[in-house]
Amino acid sequence: MVSDTRSRPLRDLRISVTDRCNFRCTYCMPKEVFGRDFHFLPARELLTFEEIERLARVFARLGVEKLRVTGGEPLLRRDLPTLISMLSAIPGIRDITLTTNGVLLPKLAPALKSAGLQRVTVSLDSLDDAVFRAMNDVDMPVARVLEGIDAAAEAGLGPIKINVVVKRGVNDAGLVDVAGHFRGSRHIVRFIEYMDVGTTNGWRLDDVVPAAEIVRAIDAVFPLEALAPNYRGEVANRYRYKDGSGEIGVIASVTQPFCGDCSRARLSSEGLLYTCLFAANGRDLRALLRAGAGDDELASFIEGAWHVRDDRYSELRARETSHLPKVEMSHIGG
Ligand code: SAM
Ligand code: SF4
Ligand code: SF4
Repeated sequence: MVSDTRSRPLRDLRISVTDRCNFRCTYCMPKEVFGRDFHFLPARELLTFEEIERLARVFARLGVEKLRVTGGEPLLRRDLPTLISMLSAIPGIRDITLTTNGVLLPKLAPALKSAGLQRVTVSLDSLDDAVFRAMNDVDMPVARVLEGIDAAAEAGLGPIKINVVVKRGVNDAGLVDVAGHFRGSRHIVRFIEYMDVGTTNGWRLDDVVPAAEIVRAIDAVFPLEALAPNYRGEVANRYRYKDGSGEIGVIASVTQPFCGDCSRARLSSEGLLYTCLFAANGRDLRALLRAGAGDDELASFIEGAWHVRDDRYSELRARETSHLPKVEMSHIGG
């Protein structure tokens, strides 16, 4: 088992399979930046499925047990179920999940399930059509995402986690509606504090609705009580409805950072290894792979990178680091 300078093990790997997306969420890929002229990676720059699988095997050897496939929008990557089946055959991987905007799930959910995917997380920021269309900025209606959620549940990919990024003055008035809609469904809504990822979304602290405020608003309508974490390092703080109709989570990365338990590495779609969501630079695993490195060489490179890891951006956010350059969220997938 490898551990970093803060004694944090390497347990989770988030794999971005594409930098492209069919949405332009204003907080993630604002149109003004990710417009027609934006240069997305050409296919040859992306890791192939064989390269991803090989790296995932090496990560598993170093202690990784959980994989999360993400993007951009991961369902845009052609033949994704083939990759899922390759990843599910890796010894030591206990859990494979995927984060998606949900729109392509009606087409892909059954094949993903058969390939070995266990669960999905679907992002849905509002049930109010006008608000949602404005946030995804491609005029996508709420109904399309709800169809995706239903398709995933039918395919056996539930209970589904529903990610809601909360931005003050944008969708905060509709949080109780989202909670109410999924209450009693077994799906778990997770409200996420809007983060200062990347450099393009114009983040301001004033846009963040603190998790405590979110919990208060929901508790006032549907009384809640706190639950213990499922495991050490769980990013969401859990609450259950007192009447037994399910649970919600809040991810308080800004107001209550959880760097102390962060065991997540991230692999971008072109094979850069990032040891923090807010890192400015990644280490080039693709170059090593394509230069013919063996598994042992890859393992010692990754081990070396983890060994010197000192990241705790969220804990330091309030200090002077916030002006430094950072990778974009759509590049490494959250
Ligand atoms: N396209 C997929 C989706 O939206 O689910 C996967 C990639 S997306 C980058 C992963 C997650 O990051 C989504 O739930 C998204 O809402 C969240 N996210 C993106 N930008 C964010 C930000 N600035 N603050 C907090 N969460 C953010
Ligand atoms: Fe696309 Fe997901 Fe980013 Fe929205 S949050 S722009 S769906 S990658
Ligand atoms: Fe992990 Fe970096 Fe987020 Fe802290 S800021 S929890 S180290 S990804």
